[in-house]
Amino acid sequence: MLLLIPGPVQTRPETRAAMAQDIAPWDNDFRAVYAEIRTQVLDLAGGREGEHATLPLQGCGHFLMEAAIRSFIPAGGKLLIPRNGAYAERAVRLATEARRQVVSLHGPDTRAVAPEEVAAALAADPAISHVVMVQNETGSGIVNDPAAVGAAVRAAGRRLILDSVSAFGALPISLAAQPELDALLFTSGKCLEGLPGIGFAVARIDSLTAAAGQAGSWSFDLADVYQHALRAGWGSFRFTPPVQALAAFRVALDLHAAEGGQPARLARYAENMRVLYQGVQALGLTPYLEWRHQGPVIVTVHQPADPNFELQRFVDALKARGVLISNFYNTKVPTMRIGCVGAITPEDMRGAVAAIGKALDALGVRQRQAG
Ligand SMILES: *Cc1c(COP(=O)(O)O)cnc(C)c1O
Repeated sequence: MLLLIPGPVQTRPETRAAMAQDIAPWDNDFRAVYAEIRTQVLDLAGGREGEHATLPLQGCGHFLMEAAIRSFIPAGGKLLIPRNGAYAERAVRLATEARRQVVSLHGPDTRAVAPEEVAAALAADPAISHVVMVQNETGSGIVNDPAAVGAAVRAAGRRLILDSVSAFGALPISLAAQPELDALLFTSGKCLEGLPGIGFAVARIDSLTAAAGQAGSWSFDLADVYQHALRAGWGSFRFTPPVQALAAFRVALDLHAAEGGQPARLARYAENMRVLYQGVQALGLTPYLEWRHQGPVIVTVHQPADPNFELQRFVDALKARGVLISNFYNTKVPTMRIGCVGAITPEDMRGAVAAIGKALDALGVRQRQAG
């Protein structure tokens, strides 16, 4: 089965094989695995030893987002969220439930937020301490530019927290080049092609030190994760980690490096995306985004107008032909979302496009333009 969803992604057999063992988290052999993960991740994030720290947190991306919002933004504090997609909406809810005040910058989910819009919103409200932004908006497929928006945040003397969950490993980012970036967040199961179960914040140490004690949660306190590491050593976890997911992630990081690192992974995903985008157009379908706004991680496609089209039936027909896509969508209008990430190649994508054509034919979907 070809898994074309934006996480958890299709993985390589070598990565999955690393999970087939029992592991004690505090065992000295495992400490080495964990230590290597920390340094490899710090390198990938463009962080500097002594200035930035890699902080693991058990669980999914939402847990990392909640932890970063709680840890870096004081209770009652104000943050700006560019709301141009489904994952930005999730950040709004996480921040609101943590009783942080959200200032909204509404925008369409069909283009990136402009740095000038962020600059204007920050100038209008000096009480905003942080901007929380999604790098790759997995809801539609657009990409917000952390370097450009970060420059506006830096110029305004504010801080940035980046949800890089569906971007890290494929889209460029450099902590050293962006001192306004308090933390970037990602998980094991997306563009780094590991198994799900663990997430990471790569964060500024000075910000972590300043953040001590303001999370209002023990589990979700990144400053406490950092303090624990200082006290107990970097081989030690506060709570039981998903050791098998970490062992697999270690292999996934090696495979990422062997492929040529971030630029090579971006190139493969971008080609996957191009094959898919042009392929669905050739089948008569309409991509949700204009080509110039289309990012490399996920292609969202309008559901066809034909009354014979029904999403779950289409997903099932496609699955019968060896390709699995999401059976839900995150846009206001009916769409379908097809992932371009994971251990898949442009050749796989050509096969997927052919399968999409066959599934549409099998359902008798002839009116293929947007409904
Ligand atoms: C996948 C994703 C998340 C986190 O999702 P989980 O299901 O909690 O792992 C957060 N932000 C973005 C942009 C994502 O793509």
